[in-house]
Amino acid sequence: MKAAVVHGVNDIRIEDYPDPVAGPGEVVVKTRVAGICATDIKTLLGQGIPKDLPTILGHEVVGEIAETGAGVQDFALGDRVAVYPIAVCGKCRYCRQGRHNLCEDEFGLGHGIEGGFAEYVRLPRRIVDIGGVVRLADDFAFEDAVFAEPLSCTLAAARTCRLEKDRSVLIIGAGPMGLMHLKTAKYFGCEVMIADLIDDRLALAGNMGADHLINSGQVDLKDEVMRLTSGRGADVVIISLGIPQVIEAVMKLTAKGGVCNIFGGPPASEITLDPRWLHYQEIMLTGTFASTPEDFRQCLQRIENRKIIVSDLLSHRFTLDTFLDAVEKAKNQEMVRGIVTFA
Ligand SMILES: [Zn+2]
Ligand SMILES: [Zn+2]
Repeated sequence: MKAAVVHGVNDIRIEDYPDPVAGPGEVVVKTRVAGICATDIKTLLGQGIPKDLPTILGHEVVGEIAETGAGVQDFALGDRVAVYPIAVCGKCRYCRQGRHNLCEDEFGLGHGIEGGFAEYVRLPRRIVDIGGVVRLADDFAFEDAVFAEPLSCTLAAARTCRLEKDRSVLIIGAGPMGLMHLKTAKYFGCEVMIADLIDDRLALAGNMGADHLINSGQVDLKDEVMRLTSGRGADVVIISLGIPQVIEAVMKLTAKGGVCNIFGGPPASEITLDPRWLHYQEIMLTGTFASTPEDFRQCLQRIENRKIIVSDLLSHRFTLDTFLDAVEKAKNQEMVRGIVTFA
């Protein structure tokens, strides 16, 4: 098969790769659409690059069942499916609590096993067994369904932040994930402020229903948030970028009794905070990472029922032949969300 094969840091080549074969309990999916995530680019550039190379990245995959291994009863060839990408153990303390994203013994597409930037992808038994291969209705467009994985990460954050109607939410960063936080927060009926340095991104956020757009290069972010919240700060602050100094500064915009969520993966670093602030203001400082199979299935439903519209997030389509161009555009943050489509 043809695939985008990673040979080392910043070394990705479009070439032939052995066809995957479905072992017992496994399925092989013919990829129809694979989403390009910031994580893929971070990995390619060295942050968390797999030890065993060459490999294939891509963890946002939708497609059709192309092969079923021995014992697989629930799927037939040609079934249209979306894939939860983490092969969790299902047995550890965290899996038993439904917190599969914290599984103590996990691997997944693009980390440990080959991912979806390829014509075919093998899904291990664990993903099948956890209900991570979800059948799609015939009229559910692959290009929409592929957003369920990234969107599910924002749903996980929404759960942690206890988003509910009329909460004021401040989203820091209007990149693709920031925009998905926006959509999720609007789904829950929140009032959303979103901050970024780039007007084009903010304009997009405005089109997607943000209540207040803040260009933090042009106005003082703190003054603006305090003005919009009668001096209280935001009930929920979601930090959808990974810059430690920014995290340290914007945490303080959380209202008394509020929740601050560190969502964007920061590099190793230290920040300071006053413990009295956590104590007397009853601030919940949290983080969320990835999502659970249940988050994933819920997001698929919301996209299918058009409770959350994702089509306006899609900015660029590529094929494997133009994949290197996609990598360049993603590195330079020139696109909202790009996908790779397969015939
Ligand atoms: Zn992703
Ligand atoms: Zn586990």
